[in-house]
Parts: sequence; C-alpha cells; structure tokens
Amino acid sequence: MGKGRRLIIAMDGPAGVGKSTVGQLVAKDLGYYFVNTGEMYRALTWKAMEEGVDLKDESAVMALAKRLSWEFKPSENGTALKTFLDGESVSSHIRAEEVSRSTSLVAAMPSIRRFLCGLQRGLGKAGGVVMEGRDIATHVFPNADVKIYLDASLEERAKRRIRQLRSSGHSAESAGVRNAILQRDRNDLERKINPLAYAAGATLIDSTRLSMHGVARKILKIVKERQKQ
Ligand code: C5P
Repeated sequence: MGKGRRLIIAMDGPAGVGKSTVGQLVAKDLGYYFVNTGEMYRALTWKAMEEGVDLKDESAVMALAKRLSWEFKPSENGTALKTFLDGESVSSHIRAEEVSRSTSLVAAMPSIRRFLCGLQRGLGKAGGVVMEGRDIATHVFPNADVKIYLDASLEERAKRRIRQLRSSGHSAESAGVRNAILQRDRNDLERKINPLAYAAGATLIDSTRLSMHGVARKILKIVKERQKQ
C-alpha cells in the first residue's frame, strides 16, 4: 500500500465512549473527513418526530427518508461532514434525550439501515475518512484499512455524556443518563440487524483511563503502521 493512499478508518463502540471526539482528532491530524453515522439515524428520527410520523411504522419512516434531500457538508473547521435535511442543519435538534431514546426504534428497521448504509458507503468509499458508529467495521466497511472498537466503563461513559449534554445547554441528571445509556447499549447490542459487535481484525481500545488525546495517539500509531505496509 502506498504511503499516500487515503485510508478508510472504521470505528465502533457503545454510547458515550468518545468516538466522536476521538474520531475528529484523528481525522484532523490526517486531513481526513470525519463522519458520525449516529447523526444520520438521529436526524431521521428527529424529522419523523417533527412531522408526526409513527416511529413504529417502518414504511412511513422509509417514505420520509426517501422524500428528504440528504446533504453532508463540512463543518466550520472543515473536519466533520455534517448532516443537512432539506437544506437545514440538524445539529441543534438531534441531541435531546427524547431523540436519543427514540433513535433505537428507527435504527432497528432493516430498510432504514440499508438506506443509510448506502449513503455512508458513498461518503467513505474513496477513502480519507474516519467513520464512526455501531456497524461500520462489521457491515458498512468490513474491508476498512483500520478497524477500531472503542470501549469504556458504563460509569465513565455516563460522566462523559453528562458533560457533553451540559456543555450543549441540555439538562442532565446522573441516574437518568446512566439508565438511558444502559438501555441504548441493550438495544444496540440485541437488535437483530447489524447489532453493535466487535469486528474481525479490529483493535480493542479501552478508554476508561485514557484521555481523548491519548486514544487518538494510539489510533494514529496504528494508522501510521498500516500506511507503511
Ligand atoms: O452514536 P450515537 O449515540 O449518536 O447514535 C445514536 C443511535 O443511532 C445509537 O444508539 C444507535 O441506535 C444508532 N446507530 C446505529 N448504527 C450506527 C450509528 C448509530 O444503529 N452506525
């Protein structure tokens, strides 16, 4: 593999583990795009809630997904590709707890997963991308050049999620956040289609006692090794 080749870096892991922060640090260092696929599931869920679409009705949610115009535009710092639906940025709408809770319903729908997986492959296939989610290394890019499974204890993830929610102006109470993460983990691990799982050939990184910069350095080391091969 040539040194200049732009790799596909796939990163999976449970809720609140820091995939987004770490992924952006790695992408920025490499001059790659960062794609947060959870944002796409959240965006569709938010839009369906806004439009009063029944979240248990897969064909209605799918009809909405197809009707919308999906665009992915670089963030201000140029690193992350952000989701726009019908020309509107979804960023300020999708982090509310009720969207987080309901997203599991939408993420369990096979037709929605196929649809969003198609968009994700389109964004990543040329390489030069760090993509994070639950099924990136197992399903979206099973041949990714670098596969990372990021984990951390439930307590640590709850602490991080509370900090993230508060810094974006949402209220957060610790038992509630911990239980919500536990429930989301269960839904993501137990769903029939493309559940969260450790991919063959992935490197497991436990970030419980590491800083986000520390995790990013570990991943960059793996990337540099891979680029030499
Ligand atoms: O990553 P984040 O926690 O924002 O993702 C929100 C939800 O979207 C997850 O709990 C999961 O149900 C779903 N998701 C998924 N597959 C992905 C990314 C996210 O099912 N690749």
